[in-house]
Amino acid sequence: MSADVLVLNRNFYAIHITSWQRALSLVYLDHARVVDEEYRTYDFEDWRELSKLIQQHPAGFVHTPTFRIAIPEVIALRFYDKLPETEVKFTRRNIYEHYRYRCCYCGGRFSSQELNLEHVIPRSRGGRTDWANIVTACMACNLKKGDRLPEEARMQLLLKPSKPRWRGSASLIVRPHIKVRASWQRFVDTVYWNTELEE
Ligand SMILES: [Zn+2]
Repeated sequence: MSADVLVLNRNFYAIHITSWQRALSLVYLDHARVVDEEYRTYDFEDWRELSKLIQQHPAGFVHTPTFRIAIPEVIALRFYDKLPETEVKFTRRNIYEHYRYRCCYCGGRFSSQELNLEHVIPRSRGGRTDWANIVTACMACNLKKGDRLPEEARMQLLLKPSKPRWRGSASLIVRPHIKVRASWQRFVDTVYWNTELEE
């Protein structure tokens, strides 16, 4: 019997993985619907009826004294349409990766040793150390800009400071103890492609 159920939000974005107990109780309470391979959704009663007809089910069945019900593999929340707020941590490594190891001024690609974190608004002018004001810059651009605003240094930002987007399926797949089920793949892929295209 498989323990894990993929949870989608209302827009069918994969957001979470939960236990089958939790998944069934969400469906029972009508906070979520079971999603099948054809993207059809079922409430608890429909799913219980359908379970009578299913002979084989990859995730198995739960037996109660009066009925048995198939363990869903994917459920969709009925009301929740946000993506989880798993913020990308503000670390040097994540900043480098966010800007793809490029200098945001000249656009060149550098190794991490050749890159600096650069305050667009200098710290001496109250510039903050956060996603909105930090970019990556090569040594040369960093020196050239110095303690000035980009306009003052006559330098243009090719890449503007930005906050990384939520990493979608990456955060679902990476956890090593979780096995990605075949039935999840289409939803996880959907998130993956959407995430890529928005960048
Ligand atoms: Zn540069």
